[in-house]
Amino acid sequence: MIQAKGFAALSAKAPIAPYSFERRDPRASDVVIDIKYCGICHSDIHQARDEWGGSVFPMVPGHEIAGVVRAVGSKITKYKVGDRVGVGCFVDSCRHCANCRQNLDQYCLEGITPTYNGYERDGQALSQGGYSNVIVVNEDYVLRMPDSIPLDKAAPLLCAGITLYSPLMHWKAGPGKKVGIVGLGGLGHMGVKIARALGAEVTVLSQSDRKREDALRMKAQHFLSTADKKVFTQHANSFDLIINTVSAEIDMNDYFGLLKTDGALVAVGIPEKPLTVQPASLISMRRTYAGSMIGSMRETQEMLDFCAQQEIMPEIEVIAPSEINAAWERVVKSDVRYRFVIDMSR
Ligand code: NAP
Ligand code: ZN
Repeated sequence: MIQAKGFAALSAKAPIAPYSFERRDPRASDVVIDIKYCGICHSDIHQARDEWGGSVFPMVPGHEIAGVVRAVGSKITKYKVGDRVGVGCFVDSCRHCANCRQNLDQYCLEGITPTYNGYERDGQALSQGGYSNVIVVNEDYVLRMPDSIPLDKAAPLLCAGITLYSPLMHWKAGPGKKVGIVGLGGLGHMGVKIARALGAEVTVLSQSDRKREDALRMKAQHFLSTADKKVFTQHANSFDLIINTVSAEIDMNDYFGLLKTDGALVAVGIPEKPLTVQPASLISMRRTYAGSMIGSMRETQEMLDFCAQQEIMPEIEVIAPSEINAAWERVVKSDVRYRFVIDMSR
């Protein structure tokens, strides 16, 4: 076994603390990765605090992993020692269901193997994530990192980047389309940058005026503070696509009214409590309410290559592992600018 040093929550009420554990020895198709950086996603907090239910402990969170190949199994031809690589939100899937066969492996019908807070495919070993120094992953679930993306900035692309890229592509954000991004956090700020690169007209909808300058600097054309409820009438029937990245409960019915006829509101934020939907606000303009989860392995590689080509990078605050608990508190207060990334060498 490989000795790993990480940072874990031992229960839903415990803070993140140093934790030693073992990774499996590499099988023939595995890649051993020295983790250099890991992003902090709000999902880490929801899961470590068991806000979605069903969490398993001890939990080493982290699914925005950027690192360098330390060793490879005997059958590996795609990667070699020293390659720059990434790992996102899942590390395996069944590979044979209809979705896996159609490059929709994030929606594996038998269930993905989450990078942490779940079990390996044997149903026995706990999967453990990127708040650690090393990880062992089957090569099919490893991403190649383009040379021009520094590893610290690469990390947030592996969840925040792909979670916005996938619905923006699926709902065809592009020239002539008005796109709204609700919540300017880790996911939201990637949404602004990617939607702009795709040619869409982008509006940020944020709970206050505090992030206005940042949003405009990120090249959003418009910024609306939803503290002023008038925005919901002033901008009624004006968006083709709205993506809700908010991690808390907000009243969706306000937002449905912002959609044009046949417009779509896509949920990506996963609050602890359910949101209520008044069907009339969808029915009146044949609006769609949908959801989207991360992206497939193929689409994630496509997103990394797109971000490299378009020079799209997240805005990050790099921290030491000793600062994780304080960083989580700032994420919960919507005070991150705009993604914390843990430097695992510190
Ligand atoms: P984050 O950095 O904390 O951003 C969330 C943003 O939501 C905040 O910056 C804030 O933006 C807004 N917000 C937070 N609390 C609010 C409140 N009480 N009222 C109104 N607005 C509020 O979180 P993240 O890492 O981007 O993740 C966002 C959500 O997506 C989380 O629930 C996470 O679990 C989920 N997620 C889903 C997927 C998926 O595949 N669907 C993948 C990753 C994460 P403003 O300050 O601009 O209002
Ligand atoms: Zn995430």
